[in-house]
Amino acid sequence: MAWYKYPNFLAQQNGAEFDTIHHPGQNTPISGIYRCTGCGLSATFVADKTIPPQNHHQHPNASPISWQLIVKSHWK
Ligand SMILES: [Zn+2]
Repeated sequence: MAWYKYPNFLAQQNGAEFDTIHHPGQNTPISGIYRCTGCGLSATFVADKTIPPQNHHQHPNASPISWQLIVKSHWK
């Protein structure tokens, strides 16, 4: 989950970049807040840096971690 106070500081977009699933060890394509598709944990990743490895956090059922962009922090 990610949180905000002022909705007027965020703008909705419908780009395909919000539907792409990213995996540990891949290059981060866009800076922003990502959501783990397995447990809902949110984390901030920076463009052109590596997405954290599989041991970033643990799932009770040991299911794999994957990430989905939920908030872009830079125009791209
Ligand atoms: Zn997770």
